[in-house]
Amino acid sequence: MLMPQMTRRGMLQFAGAGAAALAVTPLDRLLAQAPAGPFTLPKLPYDYDALEPNIDKETMMIHHDKHHQAYVDNLNKAVAGTDLEKKSIEEILRNIDKAPEKIRQAVINNGGGHANHTLFWEIMGPKGGGMPAGNLAKAIEKDLKGFENFKKDLSQAGITRFGSGWAWLVVGKDGVLNVYSTANQDNPLMKGDTPILGLDVWEHAYYLKYKNVRPKYVEAWWNTINWNNVAARYEKAKK
Ligand code: MN
Repeated sequence: MLMPQMTRRGMLQFAGAGAAALAVTPLDRLLAQAPAGPFTLPKLPYDYDALEPNIDKETMMIHHDKHHQAYVDNLNKAVAGTDLEKKSIEEILRNIDKAPEKIRQAVINNGGGHANHTLFWEIMGPKGGGMPAGNLAKAIEKDLKGFENFKKDLSQAGITRFGSGWAWLVVGKDGVLNVYSTANQDNPLMKGDTPILGLDVWEHAYYLKYKNVRPKYVEAWWNTINWNNVAARYEKAKK
């Protein structure tokens, strides 16, 4: 569904092919000025207001265009001139111990931020909510004592995470599902687990609409989940 990642240079070449006669637009100028780098902000796979009323348009705009963009920009700065530039963010995080020590924490913070948010946009969507079906539903039954227990556990993990962080549904190396939370932008790939569902509980994810009431946001977030995307991630992680 998603477009493969393109570099800005690639986009300019692509756009330039049939547009040589057109005047330079403000967008062209912006793209030309944007810092070059291997990682790019993925387009939101739906409109900013598509998750209303559960997540408001303004929060989505700031969260995607400002926060996620900043993680991408700072990740590009951190990896500049290192061989991490040529690796995927998943590969980098899975082998985080091999990242040069000088930039490791910056890569954890900003690479984690990039990977976490990329997943976050995709596991939500308009007409979300409900329950998973198929193999994922069976695994939740077997590994997590059923959907209601799983929902309660993941909600609690997010609500009780002190400060900023994420709550996760992950597939372990043994193929078993697990639920836990992590601090800051730490990603489960760093300890060998594959995240298939993530809940952002940083205040920037909910404060405009829900103020200090994190549990209300967590409750509403369940109505946004695109279970088809989560199920596809589960099948891929099991292989
Ligand atoms: Mn966030």
